[in-house]
Amino acid sequence: MSRLERKTYLSEKVEQLEPSGIRRFFDLASSMENVISLGVGEPDFVTPWSFIEASYHSLEQGYTAYTANAGMIELRHSISQYLEESYNVTYDPENEIIVTVGASQAIDLALRAIVNPGEEVIVVDPSFVSYAPAVSLNGGVPIKIQTTAEFDFKLQPEQIEQAITPRTKAIILCSPNNPTGTVLEGEELNQIASVIEKHDLIVLSDEIYAELTYEEEYTSFASVEKMEERTILISGFSKAFAMTGWRLGFAAGPPGIMEAMLKIHQYTMMCAPTMAQFAALEALKNGKKNVNDMKKSYEQRRNYVVNALNEMGLTCSLPGGAFYVFPSIKRTGLSSGAFAEQLLQQERVAVVPGDVFGESGEGHIRCSYATSIKQLEEAMLRINRFVESI
Ligand code: PMP
Repeated sequence: MSRLERKTYLSEKVEQLEPSGIRRFFDLASSMENVISLGVGEPDFVTPWSFIEASYHSLEQGYTAYTANAGMIELRHSISQYLEESYNVTYDPENEIIVTVGASQAIDLALRAIVNPGEEVIVVDPSFVSYAPAVSLNGGVPIKIQTTAEFDFKLQPEQIEQAITPRTKAIILCSPNNPTGTVLEGEELNQIASVIEKHDLIVLSDEIYAELTYEEEYTSFASVEKMEERTILISGFSKAFAMTGWRLGFAAGPPGIMEAMLKIHQYTMMCAPTMAQFAALEALKNGKKNVNDMKKSYEQRRNYVVNALNEMGLTCSLPGGAFYVFPSIKRTGLSSGAFAEQLLQQERVAVVPGDVFGESGEGHIRCSYATSIKQLEEAMLRINRFVESI
């Protein structure tokens, strides 16, 4: 079968989808030696041993079958308790929480459950690379709102007003944001909430980095007045619990929407991996110190990297959360893509060009500081040498 013929078998939606700009870059980086990667969005820590052990024990005891579709009830109880204690939001473990295969599946399930063909979903630009493709794959139309460094990449309520049409169904919020680390707080959340209520939108609130906030106490969007009834809270264990490979996340929300999501989940996924659910249960029951230790370490690294980048003229404000900094590289006169490519070739440091997260990321790069201080120090030396050489 020729390549052309095969193409006719593919769905138009898939054909129109561009591959992720991150992947191309990392294929190149992985073919080189002595590369320091500030590229990947995952913790450098191995999953804490006690979480691994809990999973081992579950296997030893023969827990190798499916769980309930929505996830083990003990885990849903723990998630409910965790959300209440940490973020002051209340969810019934029986019908308002679904354990998913990563936050990624929760995002996809939520969109599948609510989007009709042609309906619009507002996505902040720059943001996590999967949102817009996930909207398109589910028949929706992603509408981007450009944010800028001038406002710390914070979404302005009037921008939402301007983006709304009769077809707007939902908005995806992410705080702390990937790639900027921006955290939305207090009055900012209230103002966004009032636009959302006025226009009767549903909110997908991706709070996967909520544990990793360094300044203020974290406010869940679902805890903002009148928002719980229209918010699908999405989170998971990948980031703060150092469990990316376990593929475990969850969604919490109004029972009507959760019931619809569960219907899709039971046909398409059955349930999240059982052994990973046991690890997550241990993480929630006894993992607070592990999470706090990792968080302290990220905070130190953040402070170091932000200082170092600002000193070399790659300006960035102090991001309130996640493990990314998003400095401006405008003073070099290079595009984000050219900067990242030349830095990799010349100094063997991998960063992600800002434009892969959306147009308004152009002129910036994303550096992940989820790597050791020693590696970060070497990376900063190399980046400085590169900037000086331009
Ligand atoms: N949301 C955001 C903002 C992310 O950065 C990521 C991972 N890069 C995810 C969701 C996906 O997380 P998970 O591993 O739980 O699927």
